[in-house]
Amino acid sequence: MTEIKSVGVIGAGQMGSGIAHVSALSGYDVYLYDVSEDRIEEGLATITGNLGRQMSKGQITEAERDAAVARLHAANGMEALADVDLAIEAATEDETVKRKIFAALCPVLKPEAMIASNTSSISITRLAATTDRPERFMGIHFMNPVPIMKLVELVRGIATEDETFEAAKVYVQRMGKTITVAEDFPAFIVNRILLPMINEAIYTLYEGVGSVEGIDTALKLGANHPMGPLQLADFIGLDTCLSIMQVLYEGLADSKYRPCPLLVKYVEAGWLGRKTNRGFYDYRGDEPVPTR
Ligand code: NAD
Repeated sequence: MTEIKSVGVIGAGQMGSGIAHVSALSGYDVYLYDVSEDRIEEGLATITGNLGRQMSKGQITEAERDAAVARLHAANGMEALADVDLAIEAATEDETVKRKIFAALCPVLKPEAMIASNTSSISITRLAATTDRPERFMGIHFMNPVPIMKLVELVRGIATEDETFEAAKVYVQRMGKTITVAEDFPAFIVNRILLPMINEAIYTLYEGVGSVEGIDTALKLGANHPMGPLQLADFIGLDTCLSIMQVLYEGLADSKYRPCPLLVKYVEAGWLGRKTNRGFYDYRGDEPVPTR
């Protein structure tokens, strides 16, 4: 079986940084790449800060932190991924972007290397078909924030070989995560259920049934959710939420998945949630303030 020792992460945003963090902490050599060099630097700085916080909380030792930091490398170019055993794509949720990444990545990787996508919703079979190794391609879907969330969804494409699946299982289990296996249908399990609920919360806001605070309080105290759906949408990123709804709408051809026009409007405004400091809440002050 392919033994994974080194991991290349493509995309140094919220998810890529988290994947790099837990991989380095679990003993993998990590090469973090992004189309923006600033994002790589910011990603590495975030990881170092988060590892420091874990150390001060007593969750990891100083030696573990130092070893993890030493295993993290900036990849200033796709060529830096030439020797990795597994490349995980965690770039923007846009099929065209992902296809371009695989086209540039495949000629660089060693032939036996595996490729995974962290996509929240896009068909693994279709993404795999754009590569030179569909049998060594699969979905490894981490949850946000990666260091905290225990679940990872594993998704096989139609061509994924058992050996690839088993190697991915070992990689994920070594990070102490729990696996759930999902079939390759739009948005898999978690987001197939979660995103229509979030979209419905946005319709509830759009139709004036409740305010941002009213809707979030209702679900927190009325359904025992740890976070309100609009707060959660800001946390995921409203661009990612919209992309997932579009994939559900188009992939399942059912009007019940149509994205709420208010979600579209927030994305068009560039109010993408926490990552841009504004979404259903404004995060620029000390306390989040509802924007509606
Ligand atoms: P993000 O916007 O924080 O980060 C995306 C990163 O991709 C950015 O740093 C951007 O510069 C980079 N990028 C864009 N084009 C690129 C290219 N051609 N080459 C290299 N890097 C490129 O987004 P995110 O929340 O980290 O999401 C990334 C992926 O993870 C998406 O597929 C998303 O669906 C998935 N995901 C997100 C969540 C979530 O809650 N946000 C959860 C699970 C999975």
